[in-house]
Amino acid sequence: MLMRIGGKDTGGVDGGWIDVKNPATGVLIDRVPDGIPEDVAHAVEAADAASGGWKKKSMRERGIILFHAAGLVREQHRDIAQLLTMEQGKPLKEAIDEVRGFASILEFYAGISAHSTGEAIRLGSADCMVVHEPIGICGAIIPWNMPVIIMGWKIGPALLAGNTMVLKPASTTPLSSLKLAAILDSAGLPPGVLNVVTGSGESVGEAIVRHPLIRKVSFTGDCTTGEKIRQLASGQLKDLTLELGGSDPMIVMVDADIDKAVEGALRGRFYNAGQTCTAVKRLYVHEKISKIFVKKLRVRVDALKAGNGLEPGIDLGPMNSAGQRERIADIVNEITDKCEGKILTGGCSLTGPSYDAGYFYRPTLVSDVSPGARLLTDEIFGPVLPVVSVPDLDTAIKEANRSRYGLGASVWTTNLATTKRVFDEVHAGIIWVNRHLTIPPEIPFGGMNESGIGRENGSHALDSYSRTKTLFLGW
Ligand code: NAD
Repeated sequence: MLMRIGGKDTGGVDGGWIDVKNPATGVLIDRVPDGIPEDVAHAVEAADAASGGWKKKSMRERGIILFHAAGLVREQHRDIAQLLTMEQGKPLKEAIDEVRGFASILEFYAGISAHSTGEAIRLGSADCMVVHEPIGICGAIIPWNMPVIIMGWKIGPALLAGNTMVLKPASTTPLSSLKLAAILDSAGLPPGVLNVVTGSGESVGEAIVRHPLIRKVSFTGDCTTGEKIRQLASGQLKDLTLELGGSDPMIVMVDADIDKAVEGALRGRFYNAGQTCTAVKRLYVHEKISKIFVKKLRVRVDALKAGNGLEPGIDLGPMNSAGQRERIADIVNEITDKCEGKILTGGCSLTGPSYDAGYFYRPTLVSDVSPGARLLTDEIFGPVLPVVSVPDLDTAIKEANRSRYGLGASVWTTNLATTKRVFDEVHAGIIWVNRHLTIPPEIPFGGMNESGIGRENGSHALDSYSRTKTLFLGW
């Protein structure tokens, strides 16, 4: 597939290519141009040319185009989902959910387009009118783990607010973004409003952050990359949204519905082969129920069916790349080497004719983990779950907060007082009760501490892609 610039499929200036392979089979699916800063410059020119006309449309007119695009995405959801499974690895049913989620985001923003608001302030000797203006050209840099939903989180509010955009997908998952951009164009998005430039982070990503006409960058990815982007952007005082890593704790109290919590932990950790920013990455279970809880969870983990996500009945796909699997294997091997915990199940790659060509890792449960083990302190972006037994809620909250991250957290309980304490005391941008992972488009989403800056979703994101401008009428 080619890049998407100014509403056209466009080759790269340099002529180099990036191979896109299926992580379940190693088979080449397609290739995309290996972009360079000149490609970003062309995309910015296209975005700049489209800017005036797009900004002049009413929010409602922009919303109608997004709504129409959502309809086309729903019509073609199976094809898009198949492409997503092939490049990313996730089971087709998860890919279908993700594509439908993308459509829901566009529908949500189309829905609120009818409520475009401003403010009037009466001062006696003057009246003031405050309006929201688009920022201009925005950059979006997205990761490979949930490329479709994250693209939606960025383009939905940015385009509705009247901005134009240059978006860079991750190099292992560019195809779904390119396909979606073409669908948006066919839904009536004027050429140049949304441009997709493929290429590496160092070349295309940094060129987006450095480009002087791009006034806001929204980035989702690793904390180290986010920090680098923050430094690059600070020279030009750019507006930034940074959605970074997480190490979400899940707390299960003695009064929880155990079976429901077991299912919550299973889905919360192993969905998308554990490669989700808000996955359950640390599980704290009250000691009075931890034995039965772990026994039930282990049965469910061992029953997960791993394989090529396009095949029916698959619960767990491969990891997205060899590097990701290696990183996970290193952290798990360290547990054994340093006697930092007990591997209850898994702990190695999946092998055999169905797995050898891909990057499969066995779903893994680890108990008795030492507090300083990397399994608890680092972000574990794969199908490995450490379970820690805790004597009481105080300890659970203290351990939950023993992290540099603060993206999400959940508590599983039927007690209102427990809920209130966790909500008040655990540091996270979202606290779920008897749920984990769910992020509908209506609610603001983003992290505390090193999990990021800013919020996506909801009207909060719309505000973050605009700025106020005031008319002061002195009488
Ligand atoms: P990554 O930081 O390696 O890459 C993300 C994107 O940034 C890719 O498109 C990459 O090409 C680009 N990039 C890399 N170096 C760059 C640079 N120097 N300048 C500009 N762009 C650059 O992250 P990843 O491995 O693709 O994604 C996994 C991470 O994303 C995890 O930490 C996960 O928790 C996080 N994540 C966070 C959220 C959230 O909303 N908070 C959502 C999903 C994933």
